[in-house]
Amino acid sequence: THFGFKTVAETEKEHLVADVFHSVADKYDLMNDLMSFGIHRLWKRFTIDCAGVRPGQKILDLAGGTGDLTAKFSRLVGESGEVILADINDSMLKVGREKLRNKGLVNNIRYVQANAENLPFPDNYFDLITIGFGLRNVTHKDQALASMYRALKPGGRLLVLEFSKPTNAVMSKLYDFYSFKVLPKMGQLVAKDSDSYQYLAESIRMHPDQETLKAMMESVGFEQVTYHNLTQGVVALHRGFKF
Ligand code: SAM
Repeated sequence: THFGFKTVAETEKEHLVADVFHSVADKYDLMNDLMSFGIHRLWKRFTIDCAGVRPGQKILDLAGGTGDLTAKFSRLVGESGEVILADINDSMLKVGREKLRNKGLVNNIRYVQANAENLPFPDNYFDLITIGFGLRNVTHKDQALASMYRALKPGGRLLVLEFSKPTNAVMSKLYDFYSFKVLPKMGQLVAKDSDSYQYLAESIRMHPDQETLKAMMESVGFEQVTYHNLTQGVVALHRGFKF
């Protein structure tokens, strides 16, 4: 609201999102592979390729969950760099930390529990911020984007990897069928939790499309904002700069 209070609906959404990720944390990686037929790995690979990371840089993997992107960044920035995996949910952070430690990635990663809407980092700090499949779960997306803008260095960039609007009608129908009929059943079967996967499908449907997200990024100050559709717009990678 204008007064900074949260409405009942907003608070409910936050609790719902928290419950969903507490409940799926242990099975999150397995479900990701199953639900996307492993394609999420390619989407993430593409994100890394667009990130232009160099040794010594400071990177924030926001809503980083179980740390797939963090793991890749940690190797790229090297000992002199720093990667912060930030997530609002301690169950997801815990699973992420364990996974990355088991991979031997310990030296340049920090774990921070934080809400994307109000980042606890200094101004002009990061060379790169990524938010992968996270923005759609955030209640106040404009506020979150503004917070990311503030924490980026001048010359820094933001990459938003997120479900978007399929660009072709056949894909769009297939995708609706898949997300509303198949996903909740898979969730029930594998994670014993169809409600969480129902939420997932709904949150994907509600998320702003390519042009809307681009405009949202521009309105908080990002420049040279472009996006790249992946898998025919099922997912899009948006990029914007702070100058
Ligand atoms: N980035 C990881 C990936 O791509 O595999 C995890 C994505 S997972 C679908 C979404 C994550 O967003 C969850 O870990 C959830 O806890 C986190 N999240 C939801 N709302 C958030 C918020 N307001 N601030 C920070 N993280 C949030």
